[in-house]
Amino acid sequence: MSEFDQPVLDDHLHLDAENQGLDAVRDFARAGGTHLLVVNKPSWHLGVEPDTGADFRPVFEETARLVEAAREILDGEAWPVLGVHPGLVSRLVEERGFSPGDARDLMCAGIDAAAAVASEGRAVALKSGRPHYDVSSAVWEASNAVIRHACERAADVGVSLQLHTESTDDLTAVGEWASAAGLAPEAVVKHYASGRLSGCTPSVMCDKEYLQDAVGSGERFLMETDFIDDADRPGAVMGPKTVPRRVRWLLESGHEDAVRRAHVETPAAVYGIDTEATLDG
Ligand SMILES: [Zn+2]
Repeated sequence: MSEFDQPVLDDHLHLDAENQGLDAVRDFARAGGTHLLVVNKPSWHLGVEPDTGADFRPVFEETARLVEAAREILDGEAWPVLGVHPGLVSRLVEERGFSPGDARDLMCAGIDAAAAVASEGRAVALKSGRPHYDVSSAVWEASNAVIRHACERAADVGVSLQLHTESTDDLTAVGEWASAAGLAPEAVVKHYASGRLSGCTPSVMCDKEYLQDAVGSGERFLMETDFIDDADRPGAVMGPKTVPRRVRWLLESGHEDAVRRAHVETPAAVYGIDTEATLDG
């Protein structure tokens, strides 16, 4: 049993067998972490330059393999989150000569490939989004079309959707796209969120101010590091021990209810996962 005697979930991190890989999972577990949502790395980080949806499959299989190994280490559970990084649109358009429409179609095909894996019960969420930097209106529209497609496919296969977006505290419009696609807006999670968000569920970066804001909101939230496991960017993001450390800080500050909200109630509401029942005694 972990030191906290309760689940501690990092809602968004990456693992790379070429870098820290499972050592990052061991660090997380030693610090008191119990559950992980592992997001596939951007396809180009694995040297994949896709031409078809099927070309994404090895990226997803590698994530699934690492998740299986992580499960052996954790007192709790790990699950994959699979999809297409929104930054791919710029690589396709600017470096490979794709039209925005062709980029959109290929990224939707990648989402379909992720949905096929999820339909086998092998992922709890899809991953999509739009660039956080300025892009042309054609690229922006193509990216939004990919998000809407991802909403439809997540609804089809009965999983949630994590989004990478611009910095914002209002994704009401995206929540409406989800509703129109038959996906509950609460099942749409903005990764790399600050403390408050309208329209979807925030996965809050472990910045103390953001966390205090989320705690004070009384709303559902998740906690994440976006640990990228990239040897070229050491220290570019929070390390794998950060969520357990912030949980300790919240508990010491008297926020037991908020910790339960972020690590038990919100994961159940958003992903349908039971972090308590999956925690070994
Ligand atoms: Zn990430």
